[in-house]
Amino acid sequence: MNISGIGMTSQRTKQRMIDRLREKGIKDEAVLAAIFAVPRHLFVDEALASRAYDDVSLPINFNQTISQPYIVARMIEIMRNGAPMGRVLEIGTGCGYQAAVLSHLATEVYSMERIAPLHERAKKQLRELKLRNVTLRYADGCVGLPEVAPFDGIIMAAAAPTLLPALREQLKVGGRMVLPVGNMQEQSLYLIERDAKGFRETKLESVKFVPLLSGKV
Ligand code: SAH
Repeated sequence: MNISGIGMTSQRTKQRMIDRLREKGIKDEAVLAAIFAVPRHLFVDEALASRAYDDVSLPINFNQTISQPYIVARMIEIMRNGAPMGRVLEIGTGCGYQAAVLSHLATEVYSMERIAPLHERAKKQLRELKLRNVTLRYADGCVGLPEVAPFDGIIMAAAAPTLLPALREQLKVGGRMVLPVGNMQEQSLYLIERDAKGFRETKLESVKFVPLLSGKV
């Protein structure tokens, strides 16, 4: 398929999505620029490419989804808090879209995925895009990456049953973690900030994510 023929690579198609994100309240210009820079149509099946710049989540096989651009932007905006980021960890690579967005905003990005074919496909896609500051790990992300920690930011793309207290220990002082917590009926986004004295938790809006599962498949 000639993707450029259907306007997928057109600046206008992408600009419409950025305008939509602005209308929904995303203010961080660096985040908007990073989203603009990533060709989302390359992260979904060709059959769905025409919807790649709609602000919706889309299926990516294995019962998983590529996150809605708004939620990707919102979570990164909260994690970044207007400051450049050094090392960040994402749990739930999926197709690699959010990792690609993060690669434009952080010096080093680590991302973990428990489903082997998704990990492999994301690796290939990120290599093709020459995003060399992203390291993908095929592993259960529930335990984080203690050997690479500490992180300036940790972002979870799957809903955890609890606030995962072990993971926050992998934050730097001054670091921020954004994660959905809840079950399939009800989930909320949480921000966890680490300062010299300890951790502060803030409950944010309701969200809907696939569940965080344990073990590799
Ligand atoms: N970040 C993706 C969204 C992925 S959906 C994007 O950019 O669109 C969430 C992903 O989390 C799924 O691929 C799922 O397999 C993965 N996941 C769930 N539990 C996990 C765990 N314990 N460790 C690593 N990945 C996990």
